[in-house]
Amino acid sequence: MADEKQNPEYSAPAIDWESRAYWEGAGRGELVLQRCRDCGVVQHRPRGLCASCLSDDIEHFVASGRGEVYTYSVVRQNQMPAFAKAVPYVVSYVQLEEGPQLLTNIVDCDPDTVTIGMPVKVDFVPTPSKNGDVLGVPRFVPA
Ligand SMILES: [Zn+2]
Repeated sequence: MADEKQNPEYSAPAIDWESRAYWEGAGRGELVLQRCRDCGVVQHRPRGLCASCLSDDIEHFVASGRGEVYTYSVVRQNQMPAFAKAVPYVVSYVQLEEGPQLLTNIVDCDPDTVTIGMPVKVDFVPTPSKNGDVLGVPRFVPA
């Protein structure tokens, strides 16, 4: 009998006023990014200001969820209980179609098949918070 591979376990994220829309979007199965209404830059991680022009005129939008592996590392040792059962697993920066990069996991594939430039699409793990917020954590799977 083969070992059953497990994905990393994620705790509910710690959210604040800047990141609430992002984590709540992930809870709905949507990858929510921010766009500056003044200069048009799309940014991630969520912020109260545009990181490019410092405008506070920021809008949220649902991204395509598509991107490609910008870089990655295969983690083969991790003593943290939530991750120990998942080794080996892939930590990656994904270059999103909309421009920003997102630090994430690549799951549902053999880690040794991941390559730079590999097309991926977002997937979500529900991570309900203790106060009842419906949140999620995005990770990526081969497209
Ligand atoms: Zn801007």
